[in-house]
Amino acid sequence: MGFWRKQQISFFLTTNCNLTCYYCYMPKMKINPEDEFIDTDFTRAGLHDFFATNPSRTIRFFGAGEPTMAFTQMIEITKQARQMVGSALSIEVETNGYFSREIADWIENNVDILWISCDGPPEIHDAQRPTCDNQPSSEVVLKNVRRYAKCSNMQFGVRATIASENLDQQTKLIEYFHSLGVKYVAASPTYHSQLNPRIKTSSLVEFAKHFVPAFYRAIELGMFYQTLLIVNFDEEVDIYCQACKPCPRLTTDGLVSCCDWASLGPKYLPGSLQECVYGYFDKTTGRIIYDQTKIKRIQQRNVSYLGQNNCKGCKALRHCAGGCVGKMMAETNDLYKATDDWCAAVLYLFDKLPVNEGLFPYLHP
Ligand code: SF4
Ligand code: SF4
Ligand code: SF4
Repeated sequence: MGFWRKQQISFFLTTNCNLTCYYCYMPKMKINPEDEFIDTDFTRAGLHDFFATNPSRTIRFFGAGEPTMAFTQMIEITKQARQMVGSALSIEVETNGYFSREIADWIENNVDILWISCDGPPEIHDAQRPTCDNQPSSEVVLKNVRRYAKCSNMQFGVRATIASENLDQQTKLIEYFHSLGVKYVAASPTYHSQLNPRIKTSSLVEFAKHFVPAFYRAIELGMFYQTLLIVNFDEEVDIYCQACKPCPRLTTDGLVSCCDWASLGPKYLPGSLQECVYGYFDKTTGRIIYDQTKIKRIQQRNVSYLGQNNCKGCKALRHCAGGCVGKMMAETNDLYKATDDWCAAVLYLFDKLPVNEGLFPYLHP
């Protein structure tokens, strides 16, 4: 299923987090108290607009921080959405998996699609994803991974971030998650972000080379393994993902963004990613004001435009569509331009993996 088929309204619930992953795209920074948690008047207005204009009934909790740290807001937004669309509501959560029994129970009873970030066995996970007081987080996270891997009432998967020194460990990683009962795995190498310039994007070509054997090993084990480089390999598309629709992401500082990587406004995240921000909440009227000029620029990031410009002549155009907006903009500062490394990795995978040979079993987180 082309990645754009994932249509949802996302809520970036809080900037707070209980972990300090070394590669965090949004490491700890000073956030004004009024911008730490999402405003639930804003979420009500966002839900109203989304359900009025998009047939999707899916909401998604994510964040510049850890969404379960805003559990009260998560419950409140779920209530608001149920009041509007009743039992048609579907809920996706993307979390670090470091939460209490109470939250774990609520998730099991309410969530339809769950992704937990887990980087592998404790020795890798704890080195990369310690708690704020520098303690291991794996005991809690792996307990939750095992729990949800057994749940038949939700689609559950694991997101793994792979450090540059572990790119060749992908097959072992798949086998490890298989031993936990996990069926769906989505992995990324570490990516550079404008807020964490210390982190350099790993070689995507090197990542791709080791991705291929892991992809086939996953199939042998009855699992499925994917990554952002291949999300549209199963179907021709016009746009890369829901960002270019654009589907709304509501931020804690009262803005509407189209991309997970543009998770805050210009007060905190200067630079080109602000091109992804296309609306704001007007507290006085309780309404969201949308910028139609910015929406048009975002929508122009499609295969028709790219095929005449930056992606002219590319054989993978209909299965890549310019690539991940946020991750490419963080490198090129250009809404329409991918890096050479991204293109080389996509083209490598395009030759080695099945393309248009049956739909993938799930949409990437
Ligand atoms: S859990 Fe997510 S938000 Fe928190 S430090 Fe890790 S990467 Fe950053
Ligand atoms: S980070 Fe990439 S995959 Fe995620 S919303 Fe932005 S463009 Fe789409
Ligand atoms: S591989 Fe590169 S040139 Fe081809 S569609 Fe993707 S971003 Fe464009």
